[in-house]
Amino acid sequence: MCGIFGYVGKRNAGNMIVSGLKRLEYRGYDSWGVAVVTKDKLNSSKIDVLKKVGAIGDLEEIKDLPESNIGVGHTRWATHGGVNYVNAHPHYASDKSFVLAQNGIVENYQELKEDLKKLGYKFETETDTEIIVHLIEEKLKTTKKFKEAVRQSFLELKGRNTIIALSTVDQRIVAVRNGSPLVVGVGDDEFFFASDTLSFLDKTNKAIFINDREMIEYKEGKIKLFNVETSEEIDFKIRTLDEKQTEISKEGFDHYMIKEIVEQKHTIKEASVYSAEELLPLVNQIKKSKTVYTVGAGTAYFAASQTAFFLRKIAGIRAIELKAYEMDSYKNLFTKDDLVIAFSQSGETADTIEALELAKSKGSKIASLVNMVGSTTSRMSDLSYYCRSGPEICVASTKAFTAKQAWGLLLAGSIISQHSEMQKKIHNSANNLEGYFTDELFTQIKKLSKKLIEKEHFFVLGRGQNFNIALEAALKVKEITYKHFEGFAGGELKHGVIALVDKGTPVFVISSDDEDLENMLSASAQVKARGAWVIGVGQSNNDLFDDFIPTVQSEGIDALTNVIPFQLISYFMALELGNDPDKPRNLAKSVTVK
Ligand code: GLU
Repeated sequence: MCGIFGYVGKRNAGNMIVSGLKRLEYRGYDSWGVAVVTKDKLNSSKIDVLKKVGAIGDLEEIKDLPESNIGVGHTRWATHGGVNYVNAHPHYASDKSFVLAQNGIVENYQELKEDLKKLGYKFETETDTEIIVHLIEEKLKTTKKFKEAVRQSFLELKGRNTIIALSTVDQRIVAVRNGSPLVVGVGDDEFFFASDTLSFLDKTNKAIFINDREMIEYKEGKIKLFNVETSEEIDFKIRTLDEKQTEISKEGFDHYMIKEIVEQKHTIKEASVYSAEELLPLVNQIKKSKTVYTVGAGTAYFAASQTAFFLRKIAGIRAIELKAYEMDSYKNLFTKDDLVIAFSQSGETADTIEALELAKSKGSKIASLVNMVGSTTSRMSDLSYYCRSGPEICVASTKAFTAKQAWGLLLAGSIISQHSEMQKKIHNSANNLEGYFTDELFTQIKKLSKKLIEKEHFFVLGRGQNFNIALEAALKVKEITYKHFEGFAGGELKHGVIALVDKGTPVFVISSDDEDLENMLSASAQVKARGAWVIGVGQSNNDLFDDFIPTVQSEGIDALTNVIPFQLISYFMALELGNDPDKPRNLAKSVTVK
């Protein structure tokens, strides 16, 4: 997934890059590296590279690099080659004439590596990135021109890749995008080349969004944009971004995760402020579509699935949820009369973008709900909407999930002309959340978490509006506790799952006061009869529950907030286990590689 950050301007490039990379760490934190170029008194340039394994942590200033005004950096989520110093980016040419960082996967790296080996190149790393470096070196031999060598090399790469290269010779930056994101921040005589806008929004709110197959060059104070295939120069537009997205701070909380959980009392409202008029184009599109497909991956898939549920259940729409990475098997079904609604926090999820490309090729209409303004997914959409949750920094998604549900509920309500009634219900639930986060609740969940960490296997059952909630609850706990936590449909129990239940097995039962309550209580009785430790999560306690966690009061839309107790359980279990809840092992937030 990786984060890329380049800087050129009046300020100290090393420090600018560290500050940008810290904001990009959600994309990966296996290792990081910064390269800066300086000139000596005789005007000859040299490059210095600093690389470290692990996350950047609290580093504010880079002391081990010389003062410079141009450099590139990278924070890595390893795809090819182990997590170690040698494989950390940026990687430089044998003669140190340039450095390069990559986000993506060179799908034909084995083939290219063999060719380069035959030409005599030696490989020091296990990365696919080093192939790009040697390719550029090879092209330089004939073209003699840095930009042209980068361009020709890029065209040989298969897969979704974005690269940034900095030439030591003439202090020039060339960055090319295909698939993985690239944005250029435009400040006062300074430029930021980054994987997202958030990484430089505290420095400038002016940005140029680079599209796939475009190449941007910085040289002698100016930037130019090109079509990477034809080399033709193209015009670019500088956009002004919403400054609200700049604040990134834990605001007194110990971790981003708990801050973002508590923030849901505001973010649920923010996601559902859309007026009936603003939703109307989508409502009309849904009404005239033959089938509505909702797509996403990971937590966003569960949000997509929940929206499909709301569209079916509340509005009677033929809505089908699809996992973005399994979309190919549906490709024969998509027509120009269908609508695909994509869900993504970052808007850069590679699986989701590929799914949209596929649907688009069949002529289907595209709508999306993403959190990051200006992202690829929203730019690909005929109709784009935003969660408006503000930056979500914790890798495990919390507030973006409930925001997406709030929007899905509002959309379903709007279709049946109950926009304001639904909006009121959502806002009332959000208001009830204000009084939900009490010390008493936190103490109860902390105590429970201490007992839970003794166990290895957990189950959570949900039905109807709570089915996707059970799946998302299980994902959340898995992500940050590394414990085996499975979510199932309540109805699945008798069809096999119950074989897993033994004496003392913790089974969570999500029990809303709705038409599924009776079935959920029967499920509780069945697992209790096999010795399970039954933990009820709902509006009312029951004798069948050994422990009970109350959920937020709502007017029949409990699913909106029912995941919150599980977010808290996963947070407190992670703390008990000594895990960093904000940066779980092996994960990155924005999955921009396949
Ligand atoms: N393939 C590169 C590596 O493993 C970049 C990975 C990425 O962008 O996630 O270092």
